[in-house]
Amino acid sequence: MRIEIGALAAVVLLGAAGRAGEISAVDKKGLGKAVRRYVQSESAEQGVFVVHDAKLDKDWSLKLIAVRPETMVQMDQKLYKVCGDFRQLRGAKRLGLDFLVNRTDTGWAVRDVIVQNVGQGCAGAGAGKGPVAATYACPMDGYVSDKPGKCPRCGMELQKK
Ligand SMILES: [Zn+2]
Repeated sequence: MRIEIGALAAVVLLGAAGRAGEISAVDKKGLGKAVRRYVQSESAEQGVFVVHDAKLDKDWSLKLIAVRPETMVQMDQKLYKVCGDFRQLRGAKRLGLDFLVNRTDTGWAVRDVIVQNVGQGCAGAGAGKGPVAATYACPMDGYVSDKPGKCPRCGMELQKK
């Protein structure tokens, strides 16, 4: 039942937004806040956020610089994506982390964190082009990308949405 209500709310939201991909200012604010809160709650002492990089098979110890509202994009009725800029705790690398966030009937829930753009941060891949909608998804675990290919997590072929 809760799922149905959530889906209904998302349909209404889509209608209000005009078209998929556009996000209202209120939602941008809520989404940014949810991601910052998530990073905070998942961080150890001194705000160190450890994330596993499936592509390189290593863990990164990071600190959040900022969540980038200009990268927010709506993937489907309930799923949103936003990039957060992080810097390496020891080392000077910048990393962009994509947060996949579900909109639920009670708020926002971070579903997944994907390491992107090692050394570049959020501005890396989509710099100056605005939000890029992901059009390929893993049928197994929901990994999303704007390019075709294999899922870096499970190796399955990404499917066009
Ligand atoms: Zn996968």
